[in-house]
Amino acid sequence: MSDYERLAINQVTTREQWSLREAIEGYARHGIRGIAVWHDKLAEIGAGEAARLLRDHGMSVTGYCVGGLLAEAADGSAMQACLDYNRRLIDEAAEIQARCVVFIGGGLPAGSKDIDAARQRCLEGLDKLLPHAKRAGVTLGLEPLHPMVCALRSCLSTLRQANDWCDQLGAGAELGIALDTYNVWWDPELEAQIERAGKRIVAFHVSDWLPDTRDLRLDRGMPGDGVIDIPKIRRMAEAAGYTGYREIEILSARDWWRRDPDEVVETVKARYANHI
Ligand code: ZN
Repeated sequence: MSDYERLAINQVTTREQWSLREAIEGYARHGIRGIAVWHDKLAEIGAGEAARLLRDHGMSVTGYCVGGLLAEAADGSAMQACLDYNRRLIDEAAEIQARCVVFIGGGLPAGSKDIDAARQRCLEGLDKLLPHAKRAGVTLGLEPLHPMVCALRSCLSTLRQANDWCDQLGAGAELGIALDTYNVWWDPELEAQIERAGKRIVAFHVSDWLPDTRDLRLDRGMPGDGVIDIPKIRRMAEAAGYTGYREIEILSARDWWRRDPDEVVETVKARYANHI
């Protein structure tokens, strides 16, 4: 693959502007051949129709979002429902041939202060999902999220923790790691933990950290607009053995979600050349 062919866009980048059908057609129109798909967007048309559209446009699916959230299941029945949801996600990921299900830990259940229990719940639930993922030929890509969203979104916060979980679960190709510049750039152990992750890395997500960030989740920057040395992290991941797509993933309520989607895609392409 030449460099340009390795550019993918996570459809969340244009989620407010485009349906899944429009995103597939729009990205293809701009010559982009990789897309990450979201569950709620896929539900608009169903997995079968989505698979057909993706195939017709020669589009590879770099990830299916978003699985996990097991830490939030406060009791047995909530956990059962969460496991069922994840199994459905795995089946849909298989149908659209997604490179991975992007797996995030989930935050603390309402009223809880027990983060150790939340992490344990997540790990045990993950263990239960692995056989289903293996049968389906789908990889669960553990994505540590920035510790800022620990209570809200993910008790899995560091790459070390993701590596430890992989070691502990001892799984094969059904378990990997999704590396996201926005979530890991601050980590003093980054280089060592990327090296340790090696071939476990199944996805590489890119956005920038704005120095004046105003929202815990929805204020990500376009590559080049923030403080992350993205090419440095990309080189680390690729030196560790990652050969897949470089996926731009920008959740941006105040800026990019308000713009014309074709302008967003054009900007992604322009920044890809110089800032990734
Ligand atoms: Zn990500």
